[in-house]
Amino acid sequence: MTTKRQLLLTPGPTNVPDAVLEAMKIPMIHHRTKDYQAIFERVNQSLKKVFLTQHPVVTFAASGTGAMEASMTNLLSAGDKVIVAHAGKFGERWRDLAKAYGVEAVCLEKPYGKALDPAEIARALKQHPDAKAVYVTLLETSTAVVHPIREIAAITRESQAILVVDAISGLACDPLKMDEWGVDVVVCGSQKGLMMPPGLAFIAAGPRAQQLIGESKLPKFYFHLGAALKALAKNDTPYTPAVSLVRALEVALDLILKEGPEAVWARHQKIAEWVREKARGAGLQIFSESPSNGLTAILMPEKVVSDQVIRTMRDKHGVIMANGQGDLKGRIVRFAHMGDTARPESAETGWCALTDALEVCSQATPAGGK
Ligand SMILES: *Cc1c(COP(=O)(O)O)cnc(C)c1O
Repeated sequence: MTTKRQLLLTPGPTNVPDAVLEAMKIPMIHHRTKDYQAIFERVNQSLKKVFLTQHPVVTFAASGTGAMEASMTNLLSAGDKVIVAHAGKFGERWRDLAKAYGVEAVCLEKPYGKALDPAEIARALKQHPDAKAVYVTLLETSTAVVHPIREIAAITRESQAILVVDAISGLACDPLKMDEWGVDVVVCGSQKGLMMPPGLAFIAAGPRAQQLIGESKLPKFYFHLGAALKALAKNDTPYTPAVSLVRALEVALDLILKEGPEAVWARHQKIAEWVREKARGAGLQIFSESPSNGLTAILMPEKVVSDQVIRTMRDKHGVIMANGQGDLKGRIVRFAHMGDTARPESAETGWCALTDALEVCSQATPAGGK
């Protein structure tokens, strides 16, 4: 068991700042008290500022996927039709969730590494005027692509369908202006750009989404947005909240708001550009067509398998990066600069570890060594 701090350059969980960790090691308080409600009220106000919305943001004790699931079961009824535009592992999760709940998904699939095409979504909405919602991803974490949400929202806001965005890894890394752009639902998780431990899931719902919530007939119990919204209006929750995590969240959101969301995006962009420049300068290729601010996917050179590179970085340097998923396993290294690791020191340490590991692995790899 290691308690030594590693540098987590993975796209979740990300490093948690000390101030956020400290906020969790104070004596427990009961949640049905004025003290807790005061904390929760401040957190709810801060969440709106970070999501850039005036509408309520519900917090569940769950990983991000819990909020994804809630955004299906609370907006739809069995047999409803939705459009799922996907180009990677996480986009596919929307398709799989629809299937699990008997929702008909019209899938617009693009190859891994590509960005979604807003014109294609516009055509699908014309062909399927009965579609209730469009489900997309801001930062597709499996490919490090950022999708054109602003352009997609310009289309959906004029249509009959609402737009649901999985911003679990993208929020507070890549620009997303929920109200200004006309996004109806934003889903997030705590352990990525928000610099938190895993365990909290968020779902922000605008007026068009709230109307669907009122009509939805899919089964739900714990993830009941209607009940959660009703309680939220009184800064309360239907069930026991994750008190320690909510306390930590107050500190994490304060850090983001002190810097300002726009400045946080700019910091991420600067680091992302630095990492991509270094990679290209070293003759490496960037996998993504439209690379995100929070994560860079770097293609391995011929004969180098990313499993080995990642193992070398971990064992020799204490730097943790992620492998590719599915067909991309072994072929890419995903280098995150997300949340508290979107800083020059972390990116430099990560880059040094990667260069060294690549050198070690290109020398030591006999044909194929997977
Ligand atoms: C991490 C991630 C998820 C899944 O979140 P969990 O917290 O593991 O449930 C979903 N979508 C995207 C884009 C992610 O990056």
